[in-house]
Amino acid sequence: MSDPSTTTGAPSTVRCTTEVPATWPYTELLLPRTGLLVILSGPSAVGKDAVLARLEESGFPFTRIVTATCRAIRPGEIPGKSYYFLTPEEFARWRAEGKLLEWAEVYGVPYGTPLEDVRRALAAGQTVLLKIDVQGAAQVKQKAPDAVFIYLGPGSFEELVQRLVRRGTETEEAFQRRLQQAREELRQLPMYDYLVINRQGELECAVEHVKAIITAERLRVHPRQVRLG
Ligand code: 5GP
Repeated sequence: MSDPSTTTGAPSTVRCTTEVPATWPYTELLLPRTGLLVILSGPSAVGKDAVLARLEESGFPFTRIVTATCRAIRPGEIPGKSYYFLTPEEFARWRAEGKLLEWAEVYGVPYGTPLEDVRRALAAGQTVLLKIDVQGAAQVKQKAPDAVFIYLGPGSFEELVQRLVRRGTETEEAFQRRLQQAREELRQLPMYDYLVINRQGELECAVEHVKAIITAERLRVHPRQVRLG
């Protein structure tokens, strides 16, 4: 009989490094390993946070940048971990002081990425993950074209509607606005390098696909040289 403690379907704990060992014979042929900037976009309620949470839980090595917003805190969110929740005045000050790598109004609310946090993590050679909308992604593409752009999409438009309904955090007006925005956003797909589908009930597959993309990028002989122009 099999041991139940090993057959629970628990995720594998195997850790495989993408670092080249010091014993590799031709180190002179290796190009410098720099930080990797990964952008994750996708319509509201497609499951971006769920994918990121699973990546974190699985111990996959990456640095998630906390971004800033002026929207209200949702139940379960933690200031400084989910977002930096700023007043409109504080946000305007961050913008004026050049503290944001990019910023955009999403559903009428400003969101932005703290530049210094990204710079520091990249300089430390880390895989830096940004969960930002398509407008922000377009700005990052201008400044750092060597970033990796991943679009997380739903299995169907109906799945997306169902998820938004289940989340139930929006007023009817905000709900309609997010649906309309999702339709427009899906058309921005050609700006991205990869499309990962988060099918209903198959979160683990989406997580594995994101891991596969990052792992392959980390194993490149000619690594992307990400600079924040
Ligand atoms: P939510 O309010 O549901 O957490 O996020 C709404 C949207 O804002 C999502 O599409 C998310 O990717 C985007 N977003 C979150 N942080 C940032 C940011 O710093 N910059 C930009 N451009 N979009 C962001």
